[in-house]
Amino acid sequence: MRLLVVGGGITGLAAAWEASRPRDGAPPAQVVVVESEATLGGKLRTEQVDELLIEHGPDSFVAYRPAALQLIDELGLGDDVISVSGTRTVFLRSRGRLHPLPAGMGMVLPTKLWPFVTTPILTPTDKLRAGWDLVLPRQLREGKDVTIGSFLAARLGKGIVRRFADPMVGGIYGASVDELSLDAVLPSLRADEKAHRSLMMASLAAGRRKRNTPGANSPFRTLRHGLGSLIDALSEQLSRDGVEIRIGTTVQSLAATAAGGVEATFAAGPESFDAVVLACGLPAAAQLLGTAAPRARAALADIPLATSTVVNLVYPTDAFPDPVTTHGWLEAEAAPISGVTVSSAKWAGRAPATQVLIRAFVPGRLGAIADAPDDELVGAVTAHVSAVLKATKPPQQVRVSRWPSVMPKYTVGHRDRVATVEAALAQLPAWRVAGSPLRGVGVPDCVADGRRQATLALTGALTRAELGS
Ligand SMILES: Cc1cc2nc3c(=O)[nH]c(=O)nc-3n(C[C@H](O)[C@H](O)[C@H](O)COP(=O)(O)OP(=O)(O)OC[C@H]3O[C@@H](n4cnc5c(N)ncnc54)[C@H](O)[C@@H]3O)c2cc1C
Repeated sequence: MRLLVVGGGITGLAAAWEASRPRDGAPPAQVVVVESEATLGGKLRTEQVDELLIEHGPDSFVAYRPAALQLIDELGLGDDVISVSGTRTVFLRSRGRLHPLPAGMGMVLPTKLWPFVTTPILTPTDKLRAGWDLVLPRQLREGKDVTIGSFLAARLGKGIVRRFADPMVGGIYGASVDELSLDAVLPSLRADEKAHRSLMMASLAAGRRKRNTPGANSPFRTLRHGLGSLIDALSEQLSRDGVEIRIGTTVQSLAATAAGGVEATFAAGPESFDAVVLACGLPAAAQLLGTAAPRARAALADIPLATSTVVNLVYPTDAFPDPVTTHGWLEAEAAPISGVTVSSAKWAGRAPATQVLIRAFVPGRLGAIADAPDDELVGAVTAHVSAVLKATKPPQQVRVSRWPSVMPKYTVGHRDRVATVEAALAQLPAWRVAGSPLRGVGVPDCVADGRRQATLALTGALTRAELGS
């Protein structure tokens, strides 16, 4: 079996890793990974500048989805996994001030009652309105997807949506909760309403269970030498295992062969494979499916894309009147950023003691500032961050990493679009789409999906070969 993996990001490399393991006594597949850029990793890009470790894309992943940790263990990197440093202190900037997120605040709901009742982030009216959730009947209709924002507003009121859900969920998915799909992004909320009716009661009960689980503090993890070290370890071991990795090579088009396989066209000419995993991000996957699966292409093209920019700022430590120990903050009001991570406080080994490394996010949904040229963008972001932290000196270094139209937005109806892609691909069992377009944008989701789709592509090709012979 020859498997073509299009894309050398984390999804593609995880797919190659899975396909190159021996399976059920059969020899591992011959795997070719093709990456159009000169380097592997896609959005996982770590830069080491002297003692600074700068992440241009993702900087961490959640541990409660185990696929990333499992892959890291298989690669022998388990000792490099680190948790957040010190006590997790995250703020929400609201009405011009930084307020600590109430202790036990989950993604949208409190897991502890008292810090929620006493937080100054919500007005007394907001809190009273949130309390209605305890008595309201169920709001969701079976089988009808809605936006996360409308569901939470109906149950808990707009205060929680604007002050917690939008900054927190919107910050992760690069989109507003007023467009994101409940069923695709937070299906657990539907299950909670079904089981407990009240979301508050469900969340507080989950909080009690969690407090009895040791080590359940911050769910975030990263690697001591940055997420790029995962890509380095993967690519080294894949090459050692005989996987062929071609960088600086683009798959220009794909066609289905009469036998159900794949003919890929490269600048150097066509080449045949038994199966293909498209791990090349949404726009490229849609384009490559164009001729062989036009219905899948159309469903993919219906998924909107978000733009995101990361601005890394390096300040001298003595620019601040007080040590910057917070892990970061989220913006609950108009600002040129959606929030920051103070990487040097959150993770060990990101910056020397003389420097503070801050990662600010400028999602496309903030409007004109996200599209502004670098000097204007950096000026606005620096002025804002400096003002919030009362910096007396400017940053010494700045890195702008732009990710234009790359993050698929799982808007209402996303699950139907996934089903349409699946139905269209049923005709091509050895062709699979993996990674962020369909089943989860987080690094662990991409790892799990890359591995699963590699297995499905090879199984599809084998079944087809057996039926044909
Ligand atoms: C700014 C930012 C911050 C993020 N932060 C986090 C975070 O903290 N935690 C988290 O879990 N997730 C985070 N994410 C999401 C996560 O990084 C991505 O969803 C994930 O890395 C996608 O990986 P991938 O391999 O599927 O795609 P990509 O990394 O996009 O890789 C696809 C690769 O395919 C290549 N390619 C495209 N077309 C072709 C072609 N025709 N031929 C050959 N190669 C091709 C591209 O060059 C690219 O290298 C973040 C994303 C962004 C943009």
